[in-house]
Amino acid sequence: MTDYELIRSKRRSLELRVLEDGRVQVRAPQRAPLRLVQVFVDSRRQWIAEQQQRQADRPRQRWLDGEVLAWRGEALQMDVCEGRTRVAISGRYLSVRVAQPDDENTVRAAVEGWMRRQAKPVFEHSIARQFDWFQQQGFARPTLRIKKMRTRWGSLSARGYINLNMALLHYPPEALDYVVMHELCHLKHMDHGPGFHALMDARMPDWRHRKAILEQPLFQP
Ligand SMILES: [Zn+2]
Repeated sequence: MTDYELIRSKRRSLELRVLEDGRVQVRAPQRAPLRLVQVFVDSRRQWIAEQQQRQADRPRQRWLDGEVLAWRGEALQMDVCEGRTRVAISGRYLSVRVAQPDDENTVRAAVEGWMRRQAKPVFEHSIARQFDWFQQQGFARPTLRIKKMRTRWGSLSARGYINLNMALLHYPPEALDYVVMHELCHLKHMDHGPGFHALMDARMPDWRHRKAILEQPLFQP
């Protein structure tokens, strides 16, 4: 029998998810009988096994001394040592000082904290450089929110926020600028129709090339 975590919610159908670490989650309506959930999970056993294998095969970031971190399109080698927590770029190295250098979660937390601090000025700068035209059109500058998102690079909310994925810091600056321009163009066109694409072509003629950068895997197996 497959182990799974059951999450009850206000929904009408069953949904199955295999997480990055291979764990299985089932989302189910509040009143769905447990037996029905179990039958559903059992009927998808083959699919679950395939997804777990896919997750296991996927190259993922390791957080250990000597591993590589993709940083704005460059490869930084992590130099992890014991010390008071401090992260800094030093040439082609990312110097990481933490209390427990052999613990991946500790290293990850330190580096992600550092990335989050870097993100704000970098993202704000990209917005500032590209906002002039939109300002001239009378649009208000959206407020930046930095997020860790699994499936999107960015979004623009009708309430005036531009949400950007922190993982954009792994990619070259031209890819970040593309996502920012894409979201800014949503100020004028909320959909992805012909008007939106015409505006993208006018504001950033090479956007397709930049978009393709984001479709490449960062870490080759
Ligand atoms: Zn869009």
